[in-house]
Amino acid sequence: MNLRFDDNSITVAIVGCGGFIGSHLLDAVLERTRWRVFGVDLDFYRLQHRLNHERCEFLCADLADSAVVERIAKFPLVVNLAAICTPSRYMGEACEVIRSNYDHPAALAEACAKSGSWLVHFSTSEIYGKTAADSGELLEDSTPAVFGPVTASRWSYATAKLLAERYIAGLPDLRWTVVRPFNFVGPYMDFMPGVDGEGIPRVLANFSTALVRGEPLKLVNGGRAKRCFTSVHDAVDFLFALFDAGTSDSGVAPDAASANAGCAGVFSQAFNVGNPENEVSIAELAAKMRAIFAKVRGVDVSMLPEPQSVSGEEYYGVGYDDSMRRMPSVAKAERLLGFKARIPLDVALEESLAWFVKHYSV
Ligand code: UDP
Repeated sequence: MNLRFDDNSITVAIVGCGGFIGSHLLDAVLERTRWRVFGVDLDFYRLQHRLNHERCEFLCADLADSAVVERIAKFPLVVNLAAICTPSRYMGEACEVIRSNYDHPAALAEACAKSGSWLVHFSTSEIYGKTAADSGELLEDSTPAVFGPVTASRWSYATAKLLAERYIAGLPDLRWTVVRPFNFVGPYMDFMPGVDGEGIPRVLANFSTALVRGEPLKLVNGGRAKRCFTSVHDAVDFLFALFDAGTSDSGVAPDAASANAGCAGVFSQAFNVGNPENEVSIAELAAKMRAIFAKVRGVDVSMLPEPQSVSGEEYYGVGYDDSMRRMPSVAKAERLLGFKARIPLDVALEESLAWFVKHYSV
């Protein structure tokens, strides 16, 4: 396989192209390469500026349709970002969540194995499960995964994603790479409840919504859980490092090749993508976002409502459970791809919040 960035005969299929990560990836592919894009999603409202682009073709469909799956798998590089990944849906719609995060990716992986395309599959850092507050770095190939009981239906998403990873890794003829995102943030993330989506989005969109509406930020179980928030721009840079590495037949990035002679390369590998330097508790995140919002609005932070603690079950419903710490080991991406996330937390939060305020005030 030779996927040169300057080759305009190559088409990359982006499944979930209209979503948060997909829309950033689409822009980057069009800006940084000569490739064409076959974008698949259920809606494209984030892509209004790209709909008539000469190098794009868009299909409004999902992976439940086997003819669509076959069509996608004809392209040499397939990036699958499609997923139901809204925490409040993990409890009430477990079967739909499992279909979207296991059945559909498994069918796509089978089709890619037959056609010989390279599948870059987006999994999740949730596959590490119910981590404790004192858990250390999560390593791709050695950290065990422990989940809550079946009654804690929060884990429907994580277990479906984990099974999809196992299925992909088990397919003998598939050329694959798995990406495990650690709390990506940036413009176009999620939705504002009641405006362009229903239910409870992820924490950044929740906090941004509450700030815009002058409501208190809700700290689930006191906001003690910790996350490493990672800019979506770092995520896109990771993907380009990956694509670059995958263009050589060995699958090893040119600059990493000499240092890693004999390593397995980027195929048949799972990678954490996160920024360990950006770790905060959710209570600290709330304080940072209030301060940024006050600065943007030119008001004193004491004018904003105080955050309120709420129990997980009260907020999300019965079956909610949590990971208390999610700290990625990023050594593998550094070793095999020479990649390291570089955007600091405050910069990523300010960009995300500024976009949210501007977008939803129009
Ligand atoms: N959370 C919170 N308030 C909210 C939304 C989320 O305190 O309004 C907490 C949630 O319980 C979890 C963390 O923030 O501990 C991150 O939640 P998110 O849904 O963004 O994604 P996760 O990292 O859990 O997949």
